[in-house]
Amino acid sequence: MTEYRTEKKVASRMDGDDPLARYRNRFHFPKLNNDEDCLYFSGNSLGLMPTTASQYVNEELADWETLGVVGHRASRRPWKDYEQFLTEKMAHVVGGLHGEVVIMNALTVNIHLLLISFYLPTESRHKILIEYKAFPSDQYAVASQIRFHGFDPSDSIIETRPRTGEVTVSTEDILDLIEEEGDSIATVLMGGVNYYSGQAFDMSVITDAARKKGCVVGYDLAHAAGNIPLNLHDWDVDFAAWCTYKYLNSGPGSVAAVFVHERHGRCPDLPRFSGWWGHNRDTRFEMGPNFDPIAGAEGWQISNPPILSTAPLMASLDIFDEVGMAALREKSLKLTGYLEFLLLQIDSPHFDIITPNDRGCQLSVRIKTGNGRRMMADLNERGVHCDFREPDVIRVAPVPLYNSFEDVYRFVEIFSDIV
Ligand SMILES: *Cc1c(COP(=O)(O)O)cnc(C)c1O
Repeated sequence: MTEYRTEKKVASRMDGDDPLARYRNRFHFPKLNNDEDCLYFSGNSLGLMPTTASQYVNEELADWETLGVVGHRASRRPWKDYEQFLTEKMAHVVGGLHGEVVIMNALTVNIHLLLISFYLPTESRHKILIEYKAFPSDQYAVASQIRFHGFDPSDSIIETRPRTGEVTVSTEDILDLIEEEGDSIATVLMGGVNYYSGQAFDMSVITDAARKKGCVVGYDLAHAAGNIPLNLHDWDVDFAAWCTYKYLNSGPGSVAAVFVHERHGRCPDLPRFSGWWGHNRDTRFEMGPNFDPIAGAEGWQISNPPILSTAPLMASLDIFDEVGMAALREKSLKLTGYLEFLLLQIDSPHFDIITPNDRGCQLSVRIKTGNGRRMMADLNERGVHCDFREPDVIRVAPVPLYNSFEDVYRFVEIFSDIV
C-alpha cells in the first residue's frame, strides 16, 4: 500500500519518481485561453491525441496522393494488409493470442456481429445477463437482438442487482445470480469496467462460473481495454469487443476491435454475418462465390478497414507496446489511489465516491446536493475536463499514460474550492 501525504511538494516528488512521467510529452493536451494545458481527466471518454498520430495519418494521405489504388499493395504499410499491422500490439493489451484479436468496425456494430454468433437462444435458455447500469448502447443492442430472435426483452434480459442504496454489485452477488439463473442464461454480456460506477468486474471468476453453467460469456471492454490488465485467453472468455478512442487514444469514432477465443475460431456451425474481408486472404481476390473464412477472429471481418481512422491507433499502440500494461497498472493504482486519498481529506458531506476498490483509473464522485451539473460547469470554467453523468455523478479519470500526480493535486484543490 502506498502511503500518501497532503503537501503539494509531495505531488511533484511523486512525478519526479514516476518512470512513466516522460510519456506525458507524447500527447497533445487541449489548451486553455491563456495557452496553458487544461487539466484533462476525460481519457475515459476520449483519449488524448498521441503526438505521432498526425505523422501516421499524413503518411497514409501522402501514399494515397501519390499512389492511388496501387497503395493497396505498394504503400509503406500496404492497405490490403493494414489490420494485421495492429493485431499483435492489440492482442498484448487484452491478453489474447495472435489469431484471437482483430480491429474492425465500431463497438456497437461489433457487439451485434458477435451476438449473431454467440447468442443462440432456445426456448429454455434465452436470457442475456447484463450488468446493472450497462451503457445504453449495449442495452439497446441486447434488446434488439432478443427481439430479432422472437423473444421479449422484458423476459429475456436479466440485470445484476445491486443491494438497496448501492450502485455496484459484489462478485459474490453476481455469482449467486449466475448460480440461480444460469440454466436459463444463453449469454452473459457484461462490461469489464462499468462506465458509470467505474467498478471493474472479476472477469476471471465470473467467466468461470457462467461457463460452468453452460452460458456463453462475452465482455464489452470499452472502459477496460488499456485501463486494466486483461487476460482474455487465459480467462477462457468466449468473445469480447471494445472501442479504441477511450483509453486507447485512437481519435473520435475510430475503429474498434474484437476478441474471439481460439476454440471458436474455426467453428463452421456458428452462424455469422460474412463479408469479403473475412475470407481466406490467399483467395480473397479471386472473388469466388463461396465464403471461406479466415481461421480466428479475422474471419469475423466484413469490410476492408478505414485506413485513415486506423492510422492514429498505430501511434497509440506503439506507446502501449513500449510501456506495457503491467507498468501502466502500477502507476494507475498509485495515481487513482492518490486522487481518492486527497478527496477523502476534504471534510464535506456534499459528495462521496461510489467507485469500489476493484476499479480501473476512474473515480465516480456522487454529488449529494443536487447541483452536480452546475459543479461540473464550474470545474470546466476553472480549466478542468471531466464529465457529468445523470443523475448525480462526476467521473474523473486520471490516466496513467499522460496524467501526473500534480494534475491530481491541482484537480482536488479546485474541486475542494467548488464543493
Ligand atoms: C463508449 C461505449 C460505447 C460506445 O459505442 P460506439 O459503438 O463506439 O459508439 C458502447 N458501450 C460502452 C460500454 C461504452 O463505454
